[in-house]
Amino acid sequence: MTSKYGFVKFTIQEFENWINSLTLARTVLHIQQHHTYNPNYALFKGNNHFEMQQGMKNYHINQNGWSDIGQHFTTFPDGSIVTGRALNQSPACIFGQNANSICIEHLGNFDLGKDIMTPAHRETIIRMTAKLCGRFNLQVNISSIVYHHWFDLSTGQRNDGTKNNKSCPGTGFFGGNKVQDCQSNFLPLILGQIPAQLIVIPELLKYVSVTASKLNIRTGADSSKRKVNGKLSVGTGVVLRVYAEDNGWYKISSSKEHWVAARYTLPVTRAQVSVTTLNVRNGPDKSFEKITALNKGQEVFIAEEKNGWCRLNMEDKWLSKSFLVFS
Ligand SMILES: [Zn+2]
Repeated sequence: MTSKYGFVKFTIQEFENWINSLTLARTVLHIQQHHTYNPNYALFKGNNHFEMQQGMKNYHINQNGWSDIGQHFTTFPDGSIVTGRALNQSPACIFGQNANSICIEHLGNFDLGKDIMTPAHRETIIRMTAKLCGRFNLQVNISSIVYHHWFDLSTGQRNDGTKNNKSCPGTGFFGGNKVQDCQSNFLPLILGQIPAQLIVIPELLKYVSVTASKLNIRTGADSSKRKVNGKLSVGTGVVLRVYAEDNGWYKISSSKEHWVAARYTLPVTRAQVSVTTLNVRNGPDKSFEKITALNKGQEVFIAEEKNGWCRLNMEDKWLSKSFLVFS
């Protein structure tokens, strides 16, 4: 494990150990797969991981105007993994789909006829994705593991790659970038790494969304308790899992003593879209403007209900309740 410019570089073994002890309050539902396209394999010299990561960060900040590098992790041809944006922040990787996601950029251009993925890179991508699914209790399916190609570039709507899409993570990524390619080629490799009995969903009381701009995570159900890691906090709209309640405090980790004050949160309900296409409007009525749409099976967090309409988390986005199934 080495570090430079504020990034940490891991081998896959080091990553697997590190992720076990990771503290992450944000609810993770999706693992995004991307290729960097440019830079590609030709620019990797075997020892310039940090320089390449710093180059991408500079580009994202200076050219894209983002606050930080877009991705949480970059994987490299030699199988190394380098950290990027802090995991407690949403990434900037798929327009409209970044909340509740972890974004991985695989260095290279994996369109057909371009870079040929090395065996070490391939092994890291498989093991890393499997480890993240295990760590965040995600089922190995095309809702948890998503390709950038499946989302419309301008609306963020999932269209499974039928129009206005990037090829990302590449037309040659594990046999192709289509949903069917992922199901036939990629997912079985991930499943092969996870013994079925290891996917255990811990008992959850409910989900809540943060209403404060900065909510401290503490080591006990009391504001005098020490903050976790000295300073860990989460911001508005972050969805937390609640495993226990104690006198106005919520325990947000199944295994650790991590608590937040309940008064800075609102309960949200997890629901799934039950129709092929569900319009998202900027108000609780059909007369409001359509902003985007969601597809069948997509998961959402609902914060409020009004006349048969449901508001998405802390956003001003509304969905008709009739087309949602609550879990
Ligand atoms: Zn992408």
